[in-house]
Amino acid sequence: MEDQWGIADSDGLYGVSRWGSGYFKIDESGSMAVLPHKDETEIRILDVIEEAKARGLRLPLHIRFQDILQNRVRQINEAFASAIAESGYGNRYRGVFPVKVNQMREVVETLLEAGEEFSLGLEAGSKPELLLALALHTDYESLLICNGYKDEEFLRTAIAGRKLGKKVIVVIEKLEELRSLVAIAAELAVKPCIGVRVKLANRSSGKWATSSGDNAKFGLSTVELLEALSILDKAGLKDCLKLLHFHIGSQIPEIQVVTRCIREGARFYAKLVKMGCSLEYVDIGGGLGVDYDGTRSAASSSTNYSLREYAVDIVSGLKDVCDEEGVPPPCIVSESGRALVAHHSMIAVEVIGKICKETTNRPRLQPEKDGKIVREVMAVWDTVEAGHYDEAFHDLAYLKQQAMSLFDLGYLDLETKAAVDALYWEIAADVAKHYEGKTRIPEDIRELTDSLKDQYLLNFSVFRALPDFWALGQLFPAVPVQRLDERPKFKGTIVDITCDSDGRVDRFIGGGEEPNDYLPLHELNGRPYYLGFFLTGAYQDTLGDMHNLFGRMHEVHVRVDPDEEKGWYIDEEIQGDTVEEVLVQNEYVPAELVRSMRQQIDRAIKQDTLKPGEGMRMLAEYEKSLKRYTYLDVGRS
Ligand SMILES: *Cc1c(COP(=O)(O)O)cnc(C)c1O
Repeated sequence: MEDQWGIADSDGLYGVSRWGSGYFKIDESGSMAVLPHKDETEIRILDVIEEAKARGLRLPLHIRFQDILQNRVRQINEAFASAIAESGYGNRYRGVFPVKVNQMREVVETLLEAGEEFSLGLEAGSKPELLLALALHTDYESLLICNGYKDEEFLRTAIAGRKLGKKVIVVIEKLEELRSLVAIAAELAVKPCIGVRVKLANRSSGKWATSSGDNAKFGLSTVELLEALSILDKAGLKDCLKLLHFHIGSQIPEIQVVTRCIREGARFYAKLVKMGCSLEYVDIGGGLGVDYDGTRSAASSSTNYSLREYAVDIVSGLKDVCDEEGVPPPCIVSESGRALVAHHSMIAVEVIGKICKETTNRPRLQPEKDGKIVREVMAVWDTVEAGHYDEAFHDLAYLKQQAMSLFDLGYLDLETKAAVDALYWEIAADVAKHYEGKTRIPEDIRELTDSLKDQYLLNFSVFRALPDFWALGQLFPAVPVQRLDERPKFKGTIVDITCDSDGRVDRFIGGGEEPNDYLPLHELNGRPYYLGFFLTGAYQDTLGDMHNLFGRMHEVHVRVDPDEEKGWYIDEEIQGDTVEEVLVQNEYVPAELVRSMRQQIDRAIKQDTLKPGEGMRMLAEYEKSLKRYTYLDVGRS
């Protein structure tokens, strides 16, 4: 057979095994599947979509796999536990989840539940986060760490947590915070647990590099650190300094950066201990990366290290320095957010159309009548047939320019312009086809190939679903959810339904080292065609915005259960925003909008431009529309 294509080919093409970390695969039926515990339980994503639709939910659909969260908690804790056991490190590991990475209730609750046996704690970086963390944090063995800039109220609330018997640690980012903290502690007669964030000189690379280095927004310089010590000393609170914190930056691509920073941080710890501080914890911040593109490289969407290597390097870095300096090793705290939550969530989106340049119904040509320019464009075909592709393309580009000038000057009618446009794209496609797969492609032909790509129109908003792609060019794996046993014949890019040309995705993870500027996609065949964006669990949920008033997406939470026939069930469904809800968030009052519509309809009825029955139906429809999903109502099949 000519068109041999199997799931292994698709796996290579979309790199699923490479970025999937064992959680994702293509199953025998050619569908994307999830393995939440990396064992024999497989969940077909298509089945989840079908079930959600049967419950009346529409796409775009946010799908969370709560079991992946549990699995991540276990893996990270076990990685540190084995690194500690292997090296004979004389202390333990304690993780905290930085809630800013995903504040959704179900996410935080699932993590805390799964983290109970590991005493997983929480990290809050703002007052709202602290208030939610204080209430959810009920394991008194685990930590509650407060980072970020703090006002007096923030400090008071944090210290109140101490009175409840919680291990709340207030990390000082600025000296003024320490002065207020000292005053509040005296007033409330509480012994606070204090941490200090230091600025490391070593810096990260990647998109979030500015979290570290001398110019970082947060943390104390060495001079300020010494001043902090003297403030504490004077207040008689030196023994309250329990934690040393640094945060290198999110998504650290290179293990070498981790190693350097840990050693620098460990040195700070050792010197402080030698100065008589009773530090117990070294908090290495977040930054454990996710290999989004599966290249296992130092590229910004990847990591050149494994979880195991990360844990081993941190433990051994701390151990080496502590041994050298002759100080007891601290309890290791990490604030991994991205690495805990990125894998658990995905977004399923439906393709609703295709925008192509080539047309199958080109205007019928009448060379005698269509005039010179059409005849000249047609003649380029002879050059193509003679095999002079470059020459053909240059002629073609020139003629298109000519046609445009003629049109500008009014010498070309619309029919002729349409004929020239259609011919141009037809011949261009021929030329581009000739260069397909060739290693050396002239620059102008490469540009042409780019502009020939089909655009697939997806019923979602990039601004809502993938804000980090829009803002930072962060790559997320995108894969058709079905038909992966079929060769995808098209190279497409993705555009969303917002009225903004930024609402597009045009860089993709492929099977190779470099990102592609296209996504291989199948021909639409009249049946629903779904695309999945994967690894979207970190940061995207609350960073996403309301551009064009596209609101929160419908959401389902999937849980594994061996007692279920399929091995899983939908544990929870959360309705996405309705039109009314997004309008209210923007200060509109739905009843007033309806009243205004009613007045306008009444007036039109009085003026006889609208029949009363028609008017009432229009009003009823308006009210119904307010209650509906903000996305397009397509693909009801
Ligand atoms: C953002 C942040 C984190 C989380 O970083 P990840 O790379 O998502 O693990 C941890 N600590 C601090 C202080 C942060 O600002």
